[in-house]
Amino acid sequence: MRCKRFVFASSGALVVAFVLAGFVADRAAAEPSAGGPPAAQGSDDPIQRLVERLDLEKYKASVKGLTKFGDRRQGTDRNRAAVDWIEAQLKSYGCANTARLRYDYQATPAPSPTPVPASAGPRGAGASGRSGQGGSTIFGGRAPIGVNSDPNAQPDAVLRQLNSQPTTPGAREEVYCTKIGAIHPGEMYIVGAHMDGHGWGEAANDDGSGTALVLELARILNGPDVRTDRSIRFALWNNEETGLNGSRAYVEQRKDLQGKQEPPGSGKYPEPRWLGMIQHDMMLFDHGMPGPDGKVSPQQRREADVNVEFQSSAKMAEAAQKLAWLFKAANEKYATDYPAAVGPHMTNTDSTPFMDLVPAISVRENERGAQIGAGWDPHWHQPTDVFKTFSDKDFRLGLNAAQTTLAALAQLAAATLAR
Ligand SMILES: [Zn+2]
Repeated sequence: MRCKRFVFASSGALVVAFVLAGFVADRAAAEPSAGGPPAAQGSDDPIQRLVERLDLEKYKASVKGLTKFGDRRQGTDRNRAAVDWIEAQLKSYGCANTARLRYDYQATPAPSPTPVPASAGPRGAGASGRSGQGGSTIFGGRAPIGVNSDPNAQPDAVLRQLNSQPTTPGAREEVYCTKIGAIHPGEMYIVGAHMDGHGWGEAANDDGSGTALVLELARILNGPDVRTDRSIRFALWNNEETGLNGSRAYVEQRKDLQGKQEPPGSGKYPEPRWLGMIQHDMMLFDHGMPGPDGKVSPQQRREADVNVEFQSSAKMAEAAQKLAWLFKAANEKYATDYPAAVGPHMTNTDSTPFMDLVPAISVRENERGAQIGAGWDPHWHQPTDVFKTFSDKDFRLGLNAAQTTLAALAQLAAATLAR
């Protein structure tokens, strides 16, 4: 899928100045007291204590819960049932402030992208065909990519049946909930993932893994002893796979409501002003580049990393880049197993509709343009994107991304814990 960039009028400079001021203040407040591995930092650091509330088995259980609804394709009963389930999870975590965005989706399903043929081996500088999406450059081996649309490619008859209802055009819904800031309720960070999938699997990695990450953050940050100065919105977008339609609808419907108190004098802000947008998509699988045979290793590579991307062509690129580096620093201080890498080619994800308005980044298993686009994830949009495909080492990469975002977000929103 190719994504056109949306450009909106924006009060860019003002937002940049404010966000940067916010970063400086927050970073000073959350300045590390001691170095060393996370376990050695003691329990006085509220961010460390929050990160320790993340748990591999809980994260896996959340992914597993989403796979009950098959591939959760948009415009189907299984997708609507998944939205209901997600809302119930959010409420059960104490994020009681749930709401739904409603929009209409009429487009017919896009045809599958033309599969890119595998072509192994190095390509010299200046070779044609190295351009990837988002402005990226593809080096090295490639493997085919595409979207499976053949029901019979799914060997599990029960799952095939679960995924059998076709999509129909019409009304769509997506759910979000909001942790209200204690000091600045009218300002928020948005943390998102898309809950729809396709390809006749369980959409376990794309994007059960990102949705589960956002649910886990909602669980922890809405704990009864957690306070944040600023608000945080947890958004589970629909219709990502058809071209970011759910997140685009959100931006179109709500961008002009930012920061307005409603009713006046109530202290309530239905749409707090956006300070940043952090998107999560495909968090589990970093097995490296396809080999000369076009195949990817069955094992998580030891060098696996969390990829944090901003888009260098966005109007808010400067501030987005600073946000990305803050995530890198949060990863180095708080993640337990896997490092983070920062790149400038964010693309094809729900942070794209936000990127000219606010600092926007994406967090993934791989770089979207140069790596996923070159076939580094053989389960992407395939019948093999099911829970049982992934090992604990894969799930642990997703958990490390959760540690990274939780730590960064806790700093940005100035989270504190009651003792
Ligand atoms: Zn996805």
